[in-house]
Amino acid sequence: MKKSVISVIIAMTVLTFFSCKEKPYQSELNTPSIDEFNYKVEEFADMGILRYRVPDIEQLSTQQKELLYCLTEAALQGRDIIYDQNCKYNLPVRRTLEAIYANTKDTTSENFKGLELYLKEMWVSNGIHHHYGGDKFTPHFAQDYFVNEVKNVPVEALKLGEKQSVDALLAEITPVIFNPEIAKKRTNQEAGVDLIATSAGNYYDGVTQQEAEDFYANLKDTTDTEPISYGLNSKLVKRNGQIVEDVYKVGGLYSAAIEKTVFWLEKAAKVAENDAQKAVIEKLVEYYRTGDLKTFDAYAILWVKDLDSKLDFVNGFTESYGDPLGMKASWEALVNYKNMEATKRTEIISNNAQWFEHNSPVDDCFKKEEVKGVSAKVITVAILAGDCYPTTPIGINLPNSNWIRAAHGSKSVTIENITEAYNEAAKGNGFSQEFYWSENEVDLVSKYGNMTNNLHTDLHECLGHASGKLLPGVDPDALKAYGSTIEEARADLFGLYFMAHPKMVELGLLPEPDAYKAEYYSYFTNGLLTQLTRIIPGNNIEEAHMRNRQLIASWVLDKSKEDRAIEIKVRDNEHFVVINDYKLVQKHLGELLAEIQKIKSIGNYKGAMNLVEKYGVKIDKAVNQEIRDRYAHLNIKPYKGFVNPVYTPVLDKNGNFIDLKIDYTEGYAQQHLRYSKDYSEVK
Ligand code: ZN
Repeated sequence: MKKSVISVIIAMTVLTFFSCKEKPYQSELNTPSIDEFNYKVEEFADMGILRYRVPDIEQLSTQQKELLYCLTEAALQGRDIIYDQNCKYNLPVRRTLEAIYANTKDTTSENFKGLELYLKEMWVSNGIHHHYGGDKFTPHFAQDYFVNEVKNVPVEALKLGEKQSVDALLAEITPVIFNPEIAKKRTNQEAGVDLIATSAGNYYDGVTQQEAEDFYANLKDTTDTEPISYGLNSKLVKRNGQIVEDVYKVGGLYSAAIEKTVFWLEKAAKVAENDAQKAVIEKLVEYYRTGDLKTFDAYAILWVKDLDSKLDFVNGFTESYGDPLGMKASWEALVNYKNMEATKRTEIISNNAQWFEHNSPVDDCFKKEEVKGVSAKVITVAILAGDCYPTTPIGINLPNSNWIRAAHGSKSVTIENITEAYNEAAKGNGFSQEFYWSENEVDLVSKYGNMTNNLHTDLHECLGHASGKLLPGVDPDALKAYGSTIEEARADLFGLYFMAHPKMVELGLLPEPDAYKAEYYSYFTNGLLTQLTRIIPGNNIEEAHMRNRQLIASWVLDKSKEDRAIEIKVRDNEHFVVINDYKLVQKHLGELLAEIQKIKSIGNYKGAMNLVEKYGVKIDKAVNQEIRDRYAHLNIKPYKGFVNPVYTPVLDKNGNFIDLKIDYTEGYAQQHLRYSKDYSEVK
């Protein structure tokens, strides 16, 4: 906040002193080069925190900079929503720990260090459960220390709700932090139990899985060819014996945060780049005001058609990975602008979308006759928020509604300034020397790894998710808890299969026919071995993308028993992936793609369950431990999160926006404490 005041004062002084000469304002914005940029912020537990550059921001017009600023403010308002969605205890726990962290006199004891670690882990995950594995964090500080600290903190720092006392707060959250049996798992995917009862996520309250499924089955009209995304923006609760939806909207759940989002969106609409973009923003405002999912669909259609604007954004209830039933969406936001140069690559892909669909190894009856409007671009992200912060995807394809995708197409993005940060931070960490079979693979991946990885993301988002179709009458939610994994596998397979196709070189997307091998080798090493570093030995794989990668890799490994296309070799008690025949691997990938598309197209729940449970979930405990040991030895953190840049508007003496300042130096704890102060309201 201090910064914004200073720059406003400077801007005003300049204008006042030189007003007779009208000295024009000079922007100081420029992007640091890759070599001078410091990507690493800090490390703790299994996390590395990075910062990312926002290249070419200085090339935006003044109006675009103002639009960008308004959209970043709209993005930051929903932070508490995602905490609350992830678990109902998250906000009181976070506020209490932050109060201690900021007020305690003891900042050196082991207990304090344990509390600090817990808080840092919470900030990464938007809650008390690991952002990826979903297990609750273990506190490394004593319960009596915690209780004592809470009692010593100035009571106003605890931000208690209207009627709450310190004792009531302690009674509520102490067991949540210290009893490992309470709220054990964020999103349970384990078949055979009530997924709602065994998940700590806050999308349902007082209803069983059966009741929730019945509720939505009753609502759904199976003859509707343009169905809304049922349940997307609400919480399902049982009140006085009645099951009802509480909707997130102005006047509904999280009204205060949504009202502020609307405030900034309305400001953004005034400086939109064009009428199409203005209409998108205004429709989103209407949706936030009404909570009406038909309006949301209308917004999604306008959004997917807005292709000419340089700036773009996601803001709302979007992805349903956090709901064990795969219907309710977590709140997320990001703001970005098009990377014109790199977008040429994705335009080649989308211009050829129909060719890929025709030539995919899938049964013709499951293919789209006409692939509509797959637009793809490479973007520079300017802010990450909600469920996209501090850990973030590197590619996004939206909207998620199947009928909108079929009728109006989808927008697909690859976030290149984030992959830049990953790659730059990983340089020289010894990973490939440790996990790759020989110098050949090390060289291959070093030469083509970044390029083919970006290309795979493009293909996954732009073609993979957009390919194929559901047969008439098939419920888009038919695969239930297995839906996300199957969908991710379908998109990954589509990309992997075509990477090895001569078409890639023909289109100029790869420099030589063998370059794709870099992605195959690193993908299978990750899917079969290295991603296990994220799993605590004894646990299963839960997260959809991880399940999908293991499913693909271990299915192909299984298929290779006879032809030995791919195998696992052990050297000095360490496991390695060896690919003997890359073309055969491609053939197997095509076979699996055909099978998975069929499962999706006909809504074969049993087929999905069998595949995922057999290949995507279980792991070898000893190999799991070995991979973790090798990572620990290299001191590589398996997860990365980000801090956002800080944007400060520069205003003239009349309060008009004249420029934007960007500052990359904010620290990790500093940023979270500021967000908690500026973007949070206690009811
Ligand atoms: Zn995906």
